[in-house]
Amino acid sequence: MRIRSVEPYILHLPIAGGGIRDSTHHVTHWGVVGARIETEDGLVGHGFTGTHAHLPSDRLIAGCIRDLWAPLLVGEDAQDSERLWTKLARFPPVQWVGRAGMTTLAHAAVDVALWDLRAKHAGLPLWRFLGGASGGEVAAYNTDVGWLSIPDDVLVDGCRRAVEEDGFPGVKVKVGSPNVTTDLRRVEAVRRAIGRDATLAVDGNGKWDLPTCLRFCRAAEPLDLLWFEEPLWYDDVGGHAALARATRIPVALGEQLYTQDAFHAFMDAGAVHWVQPDVTRLAGITEYVRVADAAHARRLPVVAHAGDMGQVHVHLAVWHPASTSMEWIPWIREWFEEPVRVARGIWLRPERPGASTTPTEEAFRRFARPIA
Ligand code: MG
Repeated sequence: MRIRSVEPYILHLPIAGGGIRDSTHHVTHWGVVGARIETEDGLVGHGFTGTHAHLPSDRLIAGCIRDLWAPLLVGEDAQDSERLWTKLARFPPVQWVGRAGMTTLAHAAVDVALWDLRAKHAGLPLWRFLGGASGGEVAAYNTDVGWLSIPDDVLVDGCRRAVEEDGFPGVKVKVGSPNVTTDLRRVEAVRRAIGRDATLAVDGNGKWDLPTCLRFCRAAEPLDLLWFEEPLWYDDVGGHAALARATRIPVALGEQLYTQDAFHAFMDAGAVHWVQPDVTRLAGITEYVRVADAAHARRLPVVAHAGDMGQVHVHLAVWHPASTSMEWIPWIREWFEEPVRVARGIWLRPERPGASTTPTEEAFRRFARPIA
């Protein structure tokens, strides 16, 4: 499985439904900045990171794949993905300038592509290649009905239908409005609509400060929230620890953390209850597994971020014993050869060999953007 070539690509995939807002982001397209790795015997692996389809920064990530990582990988054995992970992460010139950020996103793309290759070489879906399913079914909770840009009446009706008609065991509603009372009103209305049996989580996307979060939590505690996700600025360990001590609402985070060390800091401080790693943010599957193992050792549940935009996450959720549930946002899956799927609120196990990360020919034809 000697690596012949590593080629970056950029796809800007339109988001099904036209686009969304949360407290921090406005997104109309999802950026898939990918790596296509081909071996000398003609096997092809795909991996990608996810962006907000901002071409200048996507080009910088693609440049990292092409100029930093490809020269370190060509000629190597793709089976040695663990050793190659370290070769890239500990490459002194890049270690000096970029232990997190775009270099890590680019590292994610090539690491996932290597695991995709290994699973394809074995002729197995990645979750089976990793060791098979570790538990029962992995539930899907629906975030796509809970965006901040959705009007109140549509929000309430969409959440109710997701639970009553589509069989989702829970939903997540975005918060982080300028006025806390706006979000409290919306979350209370959703809780009334979906009943007490369905789970209800909220997600602030890092917008509020600690006093605002405390005010929200004091009022929201009777609503039996499953978690409050990214309540504060992403890297603020002390603030999250203070909030976790002050409220009965569990804290969830991780989608913006780049390293296992960052996760350790939050877990050691008691600042996170639901651990949410993302292979497209961490440096791929190799680092994801370290984070999930660390959470499991502390008996904390793992909920991989954004199943549809991660594609590969469903493999990890089915396989890793710390997994409990995973997010459902059906934005871009139709542009992959094996779209991830949910039926009656349960994630279906992929069946094809590999990591489900290969874009369709049509996706390349319609949505590829020039790298330079
Ligand atoms: Mg989130």
